[in-house]
Amino acid sequence: MNDARRISMFDGMRAQQPHLPAIRAAIDRVLDSGRYVLGAAVSGFEEQFARWLGVGSVIGVANGSDALELALRAVGVGSGSTVITVANAGGYSTIAIRACGATPVYVDVDPSQLLMSVVALEQSLRSAPTAVIVTHLYGRMASIEEIVDRCSRAGVPVIEDCAQAHGAEIDGRRAGSFGKIGCFSFYPTKNLGALGDGGAVVTSDPTLAARLRALRQYGWSEKYLSTVAGGRNSRLDELQAAILSAKLPHLDAENQRRCEIARRYEAGIRNAHVQIMEGRGAKDDVVHLYVIRSTRRAELKSHLASLGIDSDIHYPRADYAQPAWRDHGDIVLNETELAGAEVLSLPCHPTLSDQEVARVIDAVCCFV
Ligand SMILES: *Cc1c(COP(=O)(O)O)cnc(C)c1O
Repeated sequence: MNDARRISMFDGMRAQQPHLPAIRAAIDRVLDSGRYVLGAAVSGFEEQFARWLGVGSVIGVANGSDALELALRAVGVGSGSTVITVANAGGYSTIAIRACGATPVYVDVDPSQLLMSVVALEQSLRSAPTAVIVTHLYGRMASIEEIVDRCSRAGVPVIEDCAQAHGAEIDGRRAGSFGKIGCFSFYPTKNLGALGDGGAVVTSDPTLAARLRALRQYGWSEKYLSTVAGGRNSRLDELQAAILSAKLPHLDAENQRRCEIARRYEAGIRNAHVQIMEGRGAKDDVVHLYVIRSTRRAELKSHLASLGIDSDIHYPRADYAQPAWRDHGDIVLNETELAGAEVLSLPCHPTLSDQEVARVIDAVCCFV
């Protein structure tokens, strides 16, 4: 299969193509401004993204992992704390929790959507954790209203990991506006992607917003005055902010295209060896990843590759089973384990053509 016909998971050039003139103009404006860190482009993007999300404040940071770590510090997580999270979401929450000197407490996911199980969360809340991180995995929102309800009764702050869910909504409220703090990544492959690293924390609580602003810059409440412990340098830069501002006006349309592709996949994929996750592409889902399951995943993956179709595994290994983090004793979560052995992500990005989508469907259907 030659490269021109290969269908990839993400194509950087193709992703920028519709935005090129706006991106070049944005870069020129930053260059001409002479200001490259925490200037007008960052504050402009912060205001624009806050309006788009319907939250009080957006604070640009260096990347999505830092967003999670600073959010944890802002709600008081530190050494000796425990934080509830899932173990099937790529390890980012674990990295942030451990960076704070805290310990992750893993809960299982529900088998149909692979999102945090509310029942499992309720049981774990009895252990009085300092915070909960909920990941809106694959672009689909977890049961955030129930989760926030259970956690507020227990007096535990909820942090939403929205790195895959920019724009997903429930009853007109967007992901990131339910918990105390929402965390975003603008890594190039995300639904809203920069041309490098970037991230944001969002909140409607002015006290938390002030603390987060300090945390991203040396703990400063004003220049050279560090008043918040745990602060460091984690700033979004002007170039990335300007590029994000140029791309944000098109995000709703791009998300709609992702949803449309998911519905085509759901309508077209018929194979006894393949399980689809139903109902993708509804309002609460911006289909960052289109994930199917198969007990014969390795064979399916090489079958697709032989037809020129890339696929990937999100994610193959539970956080508690990562070699670097095996110090929390023996944990096994059944649904997390099963998903890790079966999930396979198909190409799903807004620039895929209908013909390419049809080729992916045909390729999955003819797997025997
Ligand atoms: C990408 C991602 C992150 C981390 O973002 P970076 O900008 O790469 O640090 C965190 N959580 C989830 C769910 C992600 O997909």
